Amino acid sequence: MEDAAQRLAGVEAGIAAAAARAGRKAAEVQLIAVSKTHDADAIRPLIAAGQRHFGENRVQEAAGKWPVLRADTTDVVLHLIGQLQSNKAEEAVALFDAIHSVDRSSLVQALAKACAKAGKQPIFFMQVNIGDEEQKGGCPVADLPALLAEAKDAGLAIAGLMAIPPADVSPTPYFALLDELATRHGLPLRSMGMSGDYETAVMLGATHVRVGTALFGVRD
Ligand SMILES: *Cc1c(COP(=O)(O)O)cnc(C)c1O
Repeated sequence: MEDAAQRLAGVEAGIAAAAARAGRKAAEVQLIAVSKTHDADAIRPLIAAGQRHFGENRVQEAAGKWPVLRADTTDVVLHLIGQLQSNKAEEAVALFDAIHSVDRSSLVQALAKACAKAGKQPIFFMQVNIGDEEQKGGCPVADLPALLAEAKDAGLAIAGLMAIPPADVSPTPYFALLDELATRHGLPLRSMGMSGDYETAVMLGATHVRVGTALFGVRD
């Protein structure tokens, strides 16, 4: 069993190789270690190995474990990558440095209100339902221009797009589409790629990859 530092080095090497193949710099890609379901004891070795960006998919879980970890390591950057209920917008704005799952009008309005009240804005990504799948989070591709316009009107600064491609098919066209949509709307950031496909995502323009299993092992 490799230790956390070795797994981290392996993923970083994969990102660097993919970036080099695409003529990009590895420093253009931010690795987010997805620590959902893992406790503080599993997370600390990665912090000790130098990892600072972490991703969680539930506000409640993150609120339970990160304040203690952050007391020791103040430069941790926390990303919310899971779906967000509007009634948790205030808590999410207080806790997270980046929110990747802005995907509907009611949430845009709740986040705008929460940011105004808190006097700060996390980095926002709009999540796109890139395969237009039923029951999947994310804004339908066709609704993206209107939702981006609404966010702008509400004073929410959207910096990029996030997507989870359909399972069991090649993610390549979906990553390419997300990159194309971000370019079309003048957005600099692209959050795409997980343990099984982050190298492909990097070759297709990912600025943020969200990697859990390859760093922590399989979740229960
Ligand atoms: C869990 C999760 C990941 C990480 O998935 P792995 O396959 O374990 O790397 C990435 N993105 C989102 C939105 C997730 O929920």
